[in-house]
Amino acid sequence: MPLWNPEEEGKTHLNIYSQSRLSLGRWMSNWTNDPIDLEGTGKFLSIEGLWYYLTREGTEEEQEKLRYLTGFAAKEFGRKLPHSDLFSPNDKHFQQVIHAAIRQRLDNSPEYANVLRFSTVPLTHYYVFNGVVREGSYQWVVDLWKEERQRLQQTNLQLLTRSHLSKTREQATNIDVTIKSAVSSIGKAFAPTWEIVMGHKEHRITDEEYTEQYLAILSKISRQTIFDLANTNLLNINFQCYCNDEQFCHTYLLIDWLVANYPHLFTKG
Ligand SMILES: [Zn+2]
Repeated sequence: MPLWNPEEEGKTHLNIYSQSRLSLGRWMSNWTNDPIDLEGTGKFLSIEGLWYYLTREGTEEEQEKLRYLTGFAAKEFGRKLPHSDLFSPNDKHFQQVIHAAIRQRLDNSPEYANVLRFSTVPLTHYYVFNGVVREGSYQWVVDLWKEERQRLQQTNLQLLTRSHLSKTREQATNIDVTIKSAVSSIGKAFAPTWEIVMGHKEHRITDEEYTEQYLAILSKISRQTIFDLANTNLLNINFQCYCNDEQFCHTYLLIDWLVANYPHLFTKG
């Protein structure tokens, strides 16, 4: 590992470390309080807690405590527990669990995922003790982050547009997102309800009330649906509705919501 100068962090490298100079570097640390919920292991407040939960074998109570520990407290508590026969940090399977946790953290934090996506400096992991740089352990964790950055960079941004149902766009995935005629499961997932559509049409609810209720629908959409949408093969997704351009329409709300919540997946066309 080259010896990095901590003073130059951000310009020459990014340190995945709880004391990084950059908020992204600190966020990427295993110590960070950033809940994860994995199939098979359950909920943890930090990857550090998960790490010791798998590699150590305390009493049931001690193991459960690791779910709620973050930062140095997790390390301090975890490393006193006896080693587990099941997992060691060098096991492939253990590393796969940590990889899944990292992936989930990125999925849950699109803002950080976006900063990581557009970062170009080498990723590394070292400690600084009293101004002295010491190589960090478990460099494979750095490799997992490198792999995830690459994955993010290879994800193309989907361009989002809208049009009247009678118009389709060439080279685009045209999706009817109306409650009346949506056919695809994705189209149906993003459709409003008859209740708000009719309420709005008959002036029983205002634009603001419609917006609020439609955003509530969007907030319940599964992450899988969002990724299915992002993975449609053409790079322009065109949402279709019966409203004309410039009219108040849920397709505008949908586009704004997707871009605001998943900036690493979508952009406005
Ligand atoms: Zn509409």
